Amino acid sequence: MSQPKPNKTKQAVIIGAGIAGIASAIRLSVKGYQVTVFEANDYAGGKLTAFEQDGYRFDAGPSLFTMPHYVDALFTLAGKNPRKYFNYIKKDTSCTYFWDDGTQLTAWADQDDFADEVQKKLGVPAVKVTKRLQKARRMYELAGQIFMEKPLNRFSTWWSKDVVKTLLHLSKLDLLKSMHKANADQLENPKLVQLFDRYATYNGSDPYRAPGILNMIPHLEHGVGTFLPEKGMHQITTSLVELAQDLGVSFRYNSRVKKIIIEGGKAAGVELDNETFKAEVVLSNMDITPSYRRLMPEVKAPETKLRQEKSSSALIFYWGIKKAFTQLGLHNIFFSSNYKQEFEEIFKGKVPAADPTVYVNITSKDVPGDAPEGCENWFVMVNVPTHNGQDWEVLIPQYKALIIQKLNKILQTDLANLIETEETLSPIEIERKTSSAGGSLYGTSSNSRYAAFLRHPNDHSNIDGLYFAGGSVHPGGGIPLCLLSARIVSEIIPQP
Ligand SMILES: Cc1cc2nc3c(=O)[nH]c(=O)nc-3n(C[C@H](O)[C@H](O)[C@H](O)COP(=O)(O)OP(=O)(O)OC[C@H]3O[C@@H](n4cnc5c(N)ncnc54)[C@H](O)[C@@H]3O)c2cc1C
Repeated sequence: MSQPKPNKTKQAVIIGAGIAGIASAIRLSVKGYQVTVFEANDYAGGKLTAFEQDGYRFDAGPSLFTMPHYVDALFTLAGKNPRKYFNYIKKDTSCTYFWDDGTQLTAWADQDDFADEVQKKLGVPAVKVTKRLQKARRMYELAGQIFMEKPLNRFSTWWSKDVVKTLLHLSKLDLLKSMHKANADQLENPKLVQLFDRYATYNGSDPYRAPGILNMIPHLEHGVGTFLPEKGMHQITTSLVELAQDLGVSFRYNSRVKKIIIEGGKAAGVELDNETFKAEVVLSNMDITPSYRRLMPEVKAPETKLRQEKSSSALIFYWGIKKAFTQLGLHNIFFSSNYKQEFEEIFKGKVPAADPTVYVNITSKDVPGDAPEGCENWFVMVNVPTHNGQDWEVLIPQYKALIIQKLNKILQTDLANLIETEETLSPIEIERKTSSAGGSLYGTSSNSRYAAFLRHPNDHSNIDGLYFAGGSVHPGGGIPLCLLSARIVSEIIPQP
């Protein structure tokens, strides 16, 4: 590991080595801070981690990689060639979709091929899909930069030519409709509407309540593309940690921060079990709710922000499957037959759905060595509510039976006899491993048109030197937005 550069005199301390913590460490190091990252676990990455079991490798958390240029930008910023650290492939298929009635549809990355496939399989004129994707691109161009790349609590963000342009086209952003209503109005065909509604789950939201502006998300998949690092998702973490270490960032594992020290209205460092660490900049990558409740209980918490509805969580089965399924790709979705009811159960009933949509991710399709010859590493996920007292020990076997029944029917197989190794991850475990409130995957949901404004900003209005980055703060969850939160926060932190 390279040693700290002696000319760096000002200390920045980062609480948590999640993806936003690592990216912030890189940016602050380049900016001239001596950076120390304290991580409670004995590994980096938080949700973006992996494990091996009985000859299979599993990415434990994120499986969909979009906007890889945000990762590349960190290497370029540090004057390094990203390709010396990691490489990735662009996928020609973004997802394979299955419905209970036997319909199967391949979402080709290429927009024309995708539109043709929709026409062939669903009987919807290709032009409808083309127009929908054009609209997604236009929305992204009009609003993406403002809501994703800038701090919303700065006057300069709102006093700009971009904002004037956006305001002039406000009606095109579908702010007053739900995502579902906007999709139903334009696409009509129930299966196609369900397919486009699914993008709400990309930040753990409910398409029947999230505003139509989120319909810009498909542009990321079909306009920019979906990707996979050569060695799987975890390589994003490992390559960025390597870069940070090359820059002199110090990672301290098994080091849980217990308190943020605040002196005279300024953040002054952190306290661990047997150590006090002084710093000019304190940046918390811990979920914002426990950041207030546990690390600074004496500071008045912004209750309206902390009480925002959380994003959904997930129940995941990692299965080593001793068979190869040629009809499956890297990303596969098996839709529920009643999508509205599924989201009502998750967000209103706060109970797992009776007929869940099942997502199956198989990296061994693209990463040689992720599964033994002739076998596949299945990451099987259903969306569930955040933890609020459910008995997951009871729910896990119930869900396993339900998922197997659904997949057996569609794939005409006997999965129970094909699973040769298994691990599970429930909301309560996600919370235990990462401190995310209730095990939410993406911080707060976007189930209101005000959600973007009610997300906690990347700094504290009254405490100098205290900053935040990660999925629970602006601009939100998911790898690309976490990387953008690191960029925004590093831009508002002053030069050392
Ligand atoms: C199952 C699952 C699937 C997902 N799928 C996708 C996907 O396909 N694509 C996508 O883009 N995103 C996906 N996401 C979301 C994405 O993983 C997260 O938004 C992102 O990784 C969150 O990063 P973060 O920087 O907020 O930190 P986190 O990953 O939440 O990590 C926070 C870190 O802080 C540490 N920490 C907390 N408190 C302390 C403390 N007091 N002291 C020291 N350390 C502390 C924790 O141990 C942890 O390592 C998924 C998430 C999950 C769980």
